Formats: sequence, C-alpha cells, structure tokens
Amino acid sequence: MVVDNLKIVPIAGDSMGTRSMATFISIKDCNILIDPGVALGPYRYGLSPHPLENNRMKEHWKSIKQHAKSAHVLIVTHYHYDHHDPDEPKVYKNKTLLTKHPKKNINKSQKKRASYFLEQLGELPKKIEYSDGNEFLFGKTKIRFSKAVPHGTNTKLGYVTEVCIQEGRNKFVHTSDVQGPSLEDQVQFLLEERPRIIFCDGPMTYMMGFRYSKKSLEISVDNIIRIMKETKIEKFVLDHHLLRDLKWNEKIEKVYKTAKKEKVKLMTFAEFAGEENVMLEARRKDLWGDKVKRKRKKKKKGRQN
Ligand SMILES: [Zn+2]
Ligand SMILES: [Zn+2]
Repeated sequence: MVVDNLKIVPIAGDSMGTRSMATFISIKDCNILIDPGVALGPYRYGLSPHPLENNRMKEHWKSIKQHAKSAHVLIVTHYHYDHHDPDEPKVYKNKTLLTKHPKKNINKSQKKRASYFLEQLGELPKKIEYSDGNEFLFGKTKIRFSKAVPHGTNTKLGYVTEVCIQEGRNKFVHTSDVQGPSLEDQVQFLLEERPRIIFCDGPMTYMMGFRYSKKSLEISVDNIIRIMKETKIEKFVLDHHLLRDLKWNEKIEKVYKTAKKEKVKLMTFAEFAGEENVMLEARRKDLWGDKVKRKRKKKKKGRQN
C-alpha cells in the first residue's frame, strides 16, 4: 500500500499463514526490511505443521529474500528464529544491519543466538550497528529505536526493540514482539512517536490461562484504545501472537468498537495486503482433518487392546 512516499509491504505474518512479522518499507530515498525471518509453530494441538504451512513458509522466505535484494537497511529486533535466520547470512551481504544489542538487555538464550548470528555474518554486511535507543539517518529518512523493552509481559523471553521510520510527516512504527502491548515502556514509545501506521504484535490470547493472563489482555486492550484516542493513528495493524487464536476478533471486541468510533482502520497483515486471513497454525486441527481423527482412533483402539 502506498501513502505519499511511504510504501509498506507486510511480507509474512501469522494472518498470512506463518510465524513472522517481516515487513518491507520503501520511503522516499531508503528501502528497509524489518525482521527477515519466518518460522512455524512446532506443535499446535499436539500436531506438527501441515504441508500447507511448510509450503507457505517456503513462499514467504522466497519473498523475504527478494525484498532483501532491494533493501539498503536490514533490521533485526531480537534473536528469535521467526525474526532472523542465522543460517542465511548472504541476505545481509553489503547491507547496513541495525540489530538489537547482542549483550546488553538480553536473556541467556538470545545472547547465545546473537553471538552465533554475528559469527555467521562475519564481514558480509557493509556495516553493523546496535540499535537499542539509537537514531540513524539515511538521506532524509530517520530510523529511531526504542530502548530495549520486554518481550511480552515480562523479561523471561528477553527484550526487543520497537522501530520508528520517519520521513517528513510519514511515520510508521513496527513494535516487534510486545504481545499486547501491556507494559508502560512499550506503550510510551508509541505515544511519543505518534505514527500514522502501526504494525503491532497483539495479545497472546491463545496461551490464555497458561502463559498469558486475562489481566494482561485487559491492559493491552486498554492500551490499544489509549493509543487510538491519544494519537492521530490512521491504521492500526495487529498480528503475530494474536492471530494464533481463531477467536482473536472476539477477544478484542472493545478495540473494534473504539476503532469504528475514532475512524481508525483496524486490520491484520493479510488485510493490509488486501488478502484473506488464512491463519494456518490456528487452523491446523482442521487442516489435518480426518487424518488426525483416524490417527487418534487408531491410538485409542491400540490402547484398548
Ligand atoms: Zn520473539
Ligand atoms: Zn515473534
């Protein structure tokens, strides 16, 4: 979608069938690719990915690689494999890489992955800079990063950086994995930047009662509403963790009501791209269909014997 000099392409996302928030931005004199990675949920409903998901992942990776070719700047917001692929270092060849600090504000697992990633990259990128809390200028395009904010509701999974891209009155923010946003630090960046368009990782409702609480959902919904009311946001795009829940839109009903009242377009990556939500992981049980039922019956029979 092109607005003024700003073109935003959601390349891969959970609404489009894979775990990812890969986004390409073309803004006047700079092409930027955020989080060039794509993955699949290893187990969902006790099932491994359906072939349709594997195919979709291949397509999305191909598209990421294609978009990377014309990108000047590549951004990695944190070191989970749905946001970067350390075994495809060539993607970064001759590019400027703005990446999450590999040693500060990071948990043990991401620290290990960051070190491996940077080792794999070697001298391939033109330049590597640590992003946390910093601002970079490319022609007239400014890229500003939040300080490291928690990955979700606490720091157990480490930290991420939120990204703001600005050229004149065009402003876009990609939140990375905030799973909400439910924390004040995550929200503050959005309230301060006041972008026209936000790509946001929504509440992790599919883990409700397990790794996500009703309270976190309530706070996230209130925060999204607050952003809609207090800023001049035009398009609020929610995806990633939220789109792993088949009933995602029921869970954020209040947000839909406010969006209508405030004339904000609320959509998913797929909808932003003018496509249908396919949500393959959330639909995995249906995709495997009869095959699963047959398998389970067989198991039961086996147990009886
Ligand atoms: Zn993550
Ligand atoms: Zn993620």
